[in-house]
Amino acid sequence: MISIMDSIAGAIASIKAEIGPKVTLVAVSKTKPEKAILEAYHAGHLNFGENRVQELVEKYESLPKDICWHFIGHVQTNKIKYIAPFVHLIHGVDREKVLDAINKEGNKIKRVIPCLLQVHIAQEESKFGFSELELMDLVQQKGDAWPFVSIQGLMGMATFTDDTQQVASEFKGLQQLFDKVYDLAVYPNFKTLSIGMSGDYPIALACGSNMIRVGTHIFGVR
Ligand SMILES: *Cc1c(COP(=O)(O)O)cnc(C)c1O
Repeated sequence: MISIMDSIAGAIASIKAEIGPKVTLVAVSKTKPEKAILEAYHAGHLNFGENRVQELVEKYESLPKDICWHFIGHVQTNKIKYIAPFVHLIHGVDREKVLDAINKEGNKIKRVIPCLLQVHIAQEESKFGFSELELMDLVQQKGDAWPFVSIQGLMGMATFTDDTQQVASEFKGLQQLFDKVYDLAVYPNFKTLSIGMSGDYPIALACGSNMIRVGTHIFGVR
C-alpha cells in the first residue's frame, strides 16, 4: 500500500504543516513533468519554481493560469522578455544590469515585475549574488531607480555542506542584512526572505525564512 507521505500531495501537506501559514512553500518543479505539477495543483498548491526560461514558458502555456510561477534560475537579460508578462516572482536578480533589463521589459508591457535580490552568502565561487557591500550601495545610492521592478526581498543559497553551523551562520548573516534593508524603508513591499531548500530549510526557518524553495523532498530526486 502506498502511504500518502509517498505522494507529491502528501509531501506538500506535511511540509506545509511543518512550516505553518506564514511561510510560503515554492515547490521546485524543474525537470519534472507537468503531470507531477498537476498532482500538486489539484491538491490545492499554487506556487511552483523553475530555473530555465524555456521550460518555464512551456509549462506556463499548458498548465492552469492561476499557478504562481517563480523563476529561481540565473537570469539572462536577453530572456527576461519571455517571462515578464506572467512571472510571479524572480528570485535571482544578482546584478544591476538585470534590474535595468527587467525594468525595460516591464516598461514595455506596463507591468511592475516582482523581484528578489540574490545575495552571495555561500563559500562556493560558483554561486551568484550581490555581496553585502554591493547590496547596501545599491539600496542606498540607487534606491528605487527601477519603477517597473518591485523589490520584495532577498534570496540566498547556503554553502552545500553537512556543517549545519556554517549553513546557519550564512543564513543568519542574510537575515541581518534583510533587517538592515528593511529598516531603510526604501522598498514598500520589502517582505520576503527566500532561503531554504530540501537539505537545509529547517535551518533557514530558524533564521527567519518566510519562503522556502523545495524540490527533491516533494518530487523526488532529479
Ligand atoms: C533546484 C533549486 C532548489 C530546490 O532544490 P532541492 O534541493 O531539490 O530542494 C531551490 N533553489 C534553487 C535556486 C534551485 O536551483
